[in-house]
Amino acid sequence: MSGRKDLLTPRRHTRRILLGDVPIGAGSPISIQSMTNTSDTAATIAQIEALAAAGCDIVRVAVPDMGVAEALPRILAAAPVPIIADIHFDHKLALASLVAGVHGLRLNPGNIGGADKVREVVAAARERQVPIRIGVNAGSLDKHLLQRYGVTPQALVESALAHVKLLENAGYHEMKLSVKASNVPLTVAAYRLLAQRVDYPLHLGVTEAGTAYQGIIKSAVGIGTLLAEGIGDTIRVSLTGDPLQEAPAARGILRSLGLRSGLEIIACPTCGRTQIDLVRLTNAVEARLTPWRDVDITVAVMGCVVNGPGEAREADYGIAGGSGEGLLFRRGEIVAKVPESQLVDALLELIEAHTPAP
Ligand code: SF4
Repeated sequence: MSGRKDLLTPRRHTRRILLGDVPIGAGSPISIQSMTNTSDTAATIAQIEALAAAGCDIVRVAVPDMGVAEALPRILAAAPVPIIADIHFDHKLALASLVAGVHGLRLNPGNIGGADKVREVVAAARERQVPIRIGVNAGSLDKHLLQRYGVTPQALVESALAHVKLLENAGYHEMKLSVKASNVPLTVAAYRLLAQRVDYPLHLGVTEAGTAYQGIIKSAVGIGTLLAEGIGDTIRVSLTGDPLQEAPAARGILRSLGLRSGLEIIACPTCGRTQIDLVRLTNAVEARLTPWRDVDITVAVMGCVVNGPGEAREADYGIAGGSGEGLLFRRGEIVAKVPESQLVDALLELIEAHTPAP
């Protein structure tokens, strides 16, 4: 059964910004972001293409020096999705990125050297209608906020609001905000508080979440909790490792809440009744169904014929294993009995017949 978004808290009302052709906020589909970890231009282009193919709607690229800023036109020309330049401290890098044509900036205006420099960046961003993400991290809070609040939701939110004020004072409202921490309850509490204070779209993420296993759990809990409460407009799952793992995890979070359509595979956990190699079967089904990734169907792979079809009643298609053979079913109705070796092929034929691959 796909996520029941009708059972979630209605989405929070926000302003809407446009990042290239991707709308964010005001009820727009929740977009998925990731970030490249390459330094060489050709490798960055290849990774952006791979991230887009993996389901990223937007990709962020670190711009640590003028060399990268100068490579941006080449990167932008090849990128199939909008690109955000990630800038720290140097407003000249922000200006160069804007001139190159980036679709978004990630930059904290309080850290780029004063009001004049903020105004300069805002003027260049406004001219090109480029939104700015203010991204506050618990690990880099100002000393005075730490002294006053400690590492708390208040400190994260006050830091974000101080940066917001700088952009607002420069007359700019095209922004989205993030208040990330590696601690899940702290992240969730900070976003909840921020959501009460501003109507800008929010970029959700748990930062430094860790390697794939731990990072996906922390991100799913943190991002998922907030999304279920109607908070959040664009998300990034941050993992230590190959960024190509991030988009499928993000899609999974959205899909499980019913906030994005797409293929859902449900598989039983197996038990003493399982008489079939369910892990192999599920992996085979998952691999063969890749072309249906964006199609809104649910496919069940169940370990026994006693409970399988019933447990997967809500699935559109499914197989349930027996001893050397299994059942093929569609919306809870048994369609055929098939030898184990032909189960996956038969399932694919059934799906193709009713829901052709796009
Ligand atoms: S579907 Fe069958 S094999 Fe799988 S967990 Fe349920 S009872 Fe066990």
